Amino acid sequence: MKDLYRLLPEEMEKLVMELGQPRYRADQILYPIYNKFPKDISEILQLPTSLRDKLIAEGYTIGSAKEVNRIVSEDGDTTKILLNLVDGNPIETVLIQYPTSKINGHPRSTICVSTQDGCAMGCIFCATGQMGFKRNIKAEDIVAQVIHFARLLQERDQHVTNLVFMGMGEPLANYDEMIRAVRLLTDNRCFGLGQRHITISTIGIIKEIDRLADENLQIGLAISLHAPNDKLRRKLVPTAGPHSVNDLISAGRRYYKKTGRRVTFEYALIEGINDSPEVAAELAYLLEGNGSHVNLIPINPTDGNFKRPARRSVLEFERILVNAGVNCTVRVEKGSEISAACGQLRTDIVS
Ligand code: SF4
Repeated sequence: MKDLYRLLPEEMEKLVMELGQPRYRADQILYPIYNKFPKDISEILQLPTSLRDKLIAEGYTIGSAKEVNRIVSEDGDTTKILLNLVDGNPIETVLIQYPTSKINGHPRSTICVSTQDGCAMGCIFCATGQMGFKRNIKAEDIVAQVIHFARLLQERDQHVTNLVFMGMGEPLANYDEMIRAVRLLTDNRCFGLGQRHITISTIGIIKEIDRLADENLQIGLAISLHAPNDKLRRKLVPTAGPHSVNDLISAGRRYYKKTGRRVTFEYALIEGINDSPEVAAELAYLLEGNGSHVNLIPINPTDGNFKRPARRSVLEFERILVNAGVNCTVRVEKGSEISAACGQLRTDIVS
């Protein structure tokens, strides 16, 4: 099956022309599929019946994701959906809403997409990492995750305001499909989301961070650091390999220099492992004067043996960084009770 959500505008133009149609037919496909979210080509009524029939006969389809399970948090702000993609394999996608934070009068509605089924990086505190790697997700299936929630939000007269590549998988390990999805989701003839409303989160594949910096995009970058020194980091991220903490910080600096976008360093706080005042001081020393931002994420419960630190330890850690002049926030966690928060997504158990 060939999915129309895979095609960039120029590719859509090429397709319609190959089917003997004028170039403008491309926009007669792109506009409805990214604004009205039809589930079937036969619903694109702007197109002549003959073209719809031709597309179907050629094996084209639109948005193959099928919802198989939905869980909503008690406060209604977080929705986790299990989607079956074209190959029948399920992946998880999450919508997080912030009713008090409005963008153009609409609640901030962030979609957290998955780019891989499972993950090869094996971070020891992450449920996805414990699944191992199963497969890369295609660009059209990344787009389908967003479209699925865009349709749901449209029914409530709301829309997608932000997008984070922080779901299952390491986005930079599926670079080509990830970047195609970013282009489809930001192109004004397609989904048209502002580049500055997108953040890519990586465990730190340096060569791909540099490649991303060269894409001439204005997307945000979050690098998962989790430790201020190599010894501790390699314990938490066994596949950190040759990349040192200093290499990651330099890569962040290069990204900022090229794009002008501030880099966030994500730091999962784990009780008794990387949350002591000494470790905080080491991190502060590493990052002071760097101009970067640290996002502290008190770890979410998974099946592992790791515990979330007490609130006072988190605040103390934050205080040490702030006192050293390091820009720092503690992430407001949403959805942990439905296993929809950072590090909790997995598909080998349907929760
Ligand atoms: S934290 Fe991210 S990179 Fe690490 S195993 Fe989980 S999904 Fe993969």
